[in-house]
Amino acid sequence: MNPTEGFSNWLEIDRGALAENVQRLSRLTGGPVMAVVKANGYGHGMIEVGRATLAAGAHSLGVARLDEALELRAAGVTGPVLVLGALPEGRWPEAVAADVDASVWTREQVEAAAAAARRAGRAARLHLKVDTGMSRLGAPAEEADGLAGAMAAADGVSFEGIFTHFARADEPDPTPTHAQTARFRDLLGRLVAAGARPRLAHAANSAAAVAHPDSRFDLVRAGVAVFGLNPSRHCKLPEGFHPALTWKARLASVRPYPAGTGVSYGHAYVTRREERIGVVPVGYGDGYRRTEGNHVLVRGRRVPVVGRVCMDQVMVQLDAVPEAAVGDEVVVIGSQGDEAITAEDVAAVWSTIPYEVVCAVSARVPRVYVG
Ligand SMILES: *Cc1c(COP(=O)(O)O)cnc(C)c1O
Repeated sequence: MNPTEGFSNWLEIDRGALAENVQRLSRLTGGPVMAVVKANGYGHGMIEVGRATLAAGAHSLGVARLDEALELRAAGVTGPVLVLGALPEGRWPEAVAADVDASVWTREQVEAAAAAARRAGRAARLHLKVDTGMSRLGAPAEEADGLAGAMAAADGVSFEGIFTHFARADEPDPTPTHAQTARFRDLLGRLVAAGARPRLAHAANSAAAVAHPDSRFDLVRAGVAVFGLNPSRHCKLPEGFHPALTWKARLASVRPYPAGTGVSYGHAYVTRREERIGVVPVGYGDGYRRTEGNHVLVRGRRVPVVGRVCMDQVMVQLDAVPEAAVGDEVVVIGSQGDEAITAEDVAAVWSTIPYEVVCAVSARVPRVYVG
């Protein structure tokens, strides 16, 4: 039996698409790719995505939190992993013991890492995080020289890299990204002169990797492009990238109701004539937003979700698909026949970005890996 026959709703993740996207991005940028797999691989499953992207030639993995890095290590992933966010104080020994690269931007962090490294008898692998205009984490670019010098000289520290992050690389106006790139480039120039430039300088996220060739430096850090999703409406991936995720379900019930029947909580929808209403077992408990205007695909046709989204299911109006039957595969995100509903389409209905749509798919939804 096909294992998905036992599921109410599930994600199908195409490993071949992940591999193809990594390799395309590497060819496009002419350099290595760090696959960013934080937040459970943008909902796709961190461990499987980490394995698939490294196998496809990704240089390393990027995560937000130390716990994510440790989870990768516990699953046997041995490739380089960089924690992009702040390491909670007191957890330097764990980062060092797991041979995880960490981001730093203060003297205190460098000292704590170096002390943990000396106690463990192995190097702390550090990347200096520089704020060139995101105003989030990092040492201000104009003041990072001293810290870089200290890192290059610190006993116990392996100064692996230096990086920054763009605030507006997915927008049509290139000016803010050019300004951030220039600040970063200036700093690198000063570090070269001071003999304190580490091996890896990196800046580009997916949007910058695609749209700003001058921001690619020694590697690009790509999340959304690896998953085959466009960084934004203004910044699209070139031909040949493919979404790795399809969200599927199976029709749990199909019944006709007479005109004037209230459907789902609050009877927010009332049938206008005799209508066939299907029940799809996907709801806000799975990460499907409780909002109006949703659609799904049944037998290759778009059908509207009607009435309120429940925790575990939604109702759909099946007028467009008279032959629909219990057990039919339903596509929530993805393609079926000639129709498609992309993560971007869903994001538009939910007034958000595709990143949030895929990250929101909850842990109870099984992930099935194909390809
Ligand atoms: C999440 C993240 C990325 C990846 O961003 P995408 O837009 O998904 O490519 C890169 N760098 C940092 C610092 C991040 O936090």
